[in-house]
Amino acid sequence: MNYQIIKIPILPLSMVNAFIIKYTGGCILVDSGVPNTEHKVEKTLIQHQLTFTDIQYIIITHAHIDHAGNAKKLQELSYSKKSGAKIIAHEGDLPYYQGKKEMTFCATSWFAKLFFKTGIVSKHYPRFTPDILLKGDQSFHIPNLDIKVIPTIGHTQGSISVLVDSNKVIAGDLVASGILIGGIMFNNKPKRPPFEENPQMVSQQLKNLISRGCEQFYLGHGGPLNDKQVNNHIRNLDKLDKLDKLDKLDNLDNLDN
Ligand SMILES: [Zn+2]
Ligand SMILES: [Zn+2]
Repeated sequence: MNYQIIKIPILPLSMVNAFIIKYTGGCILVDSGVPNTEHKVEKTLIQHQLTFTDIQYIIITHAHIDHAGNAKKLQELSYSKKSGAKIIAHEGDLPYYQGKKEMTFCATSWFAKLFFKTGIVSKHYPRFTPDILLKGDQSFHIPNLDIKVIPTIGHTQGSISVLVDSNKVIAGDLVASGILIGGIMFNNKPKRPPFEENPQMVSQQLKNLISRGCEQFYLGHGGPLNDKQVNNHIRNLDKLDKLDKLDKLDNLDNLDN
């Protein structure tokens, strides 16, 4: 089967992307964009001779509003006479999808800190319960397709990625590229996304993706990147880890004196 990965520009200049994976007989939506952006999704669907009712699954890579914010609305729009799209997500982010817990945000830059202060990222969005919930290190193989949803925890406690054809991956916010929140310019230059919970775990997940053969990384902000560019990013994340450890040693030294 032939798979076409199509970017949906939720915001221009690749600042925020969602994706359609198109194949014979339907499509899968990966991420939903911020609330009330369904017209952007519809426009891209129409450009590729698809409609909302062709969507068979909606995969949500993690619970940040720019990825999960419009999931409920898009699921409602996907209902045909037979059924609607099934939402797939990981249990690690379930309390946020259900609105039972407030998310925490670890800003990775001064710009992200400012951005957080606008209140846009921590806003509530329509709640939903995924139909297919990945647990722990469980993955989910989409029936009859060469598409696999795998847990890649680290960006958040429930972040997942979508492997297509075994050498392409839609990786959500495991890595970003460009400037500010991502996108805009220098899209071949990897960077950390605006918010990231655990950079060491992210580095490990990116290493795993490369060792299982991923060569092309499609991203929520900026991108796509190739495996070489992602390797550079891994090195930077590992440096960060070393600096962090040195910093802690330094603090211990200070305590001793
Ligand atoms: Zn995110
Ligand atoms: Zn994001």
